[in-house]
Amino acid sequence: MSIAENLAKVRAEIGEACRAAGRAESTVTLIAVSKVHPAERLIEAYEAGQRVFGENRVQELQAKAERVRGLPGAEFHLIGPLQSNKTAKAAELFDTVDTVAERKTAQRLATTAMALGKQLPVLIEVKLSPEESKHGVSPAELPGLLSAIAGLEGLEVRGLMTVPPWDEDAETARPYFRQLRELRDELAGTYPTLRELSMGMSNDFRVAIEEGSTAVRVGTAIFGARPKPAINEDGTAVEDGTTVGG
Ligand SMILES: *Cc1c(COP(=O)(O)O)cnc(C)c1O
Repeated sequence: MSIAENLAKVRAEIGEACRAAGRAESTVTLIAVSKVHPAERLIEAYEAGQRVFGENRVQELQAKAERVRGLPGAEFHLIGPLQSNKTAKAAELFDTVDTVAERKTAQRLATTAMALGKQLPVLIEVKLSPEESKHGVSPAELPGLLSAIAGLEGLEVRGLMTVPPWDEDAETARPYFRQLRELRDELAGTYPTLRELSMGMSNDFRVAIEEGSTAVRVGTAIFGARPKPAINEDGTAVEDGTTVGG
């Protein structure tokens, strides 16, 4: 199937999930996760009408920027963990940073955003599962982080984001999605700009929508299985050319 066909299928499934949950389709944004795929694939999705994209590394969008940053109406979200030495570049390149988890990072983003004269929307990534590989602030530390960054000029805290443990059975993710919604509902009284819930990926976005997701981050279902990058995150060479899913 082509990217255009995949996109149409995903959009139809989002529509169905919204109807089943009694929600308007306009309340859910589809973020097309183009990480590891070349700029051409992203442009193919753009030409099929997709406007919101997610990348998980600052360097990767930087590499694609010349081809894709000028596309009218295209919007880019950073959905991967942000290293402190990349914050300035992130504030410059991205329209939204969905993975803020530390006060220091938020302060650096705010400083750059102010210097650029922009108001940068951010989400706070919350770690709801004990897995080592997951990032984010714990629910216990969330109120403290929010109060520290809510007043920062240059940033606007729009909501919360989470990545539950991966499981083939989408129902496994439901309690995590529900917990993120409950956290948002509890805190929205104090922080009225806290509206967004970025949750749900290719295999579980329907469940996420039932639990109140306002932004689903879908990669594989749109672009197909991800080719392995030529180099790993730590700079070492990838051993074989097999694809990775999930
Ligand atoms: C890669 C990634 C996704 C997309 O995952 P798929 O299973 O391919 O849809 C979503 N969110 C984050 C944070 C990711 O890193």
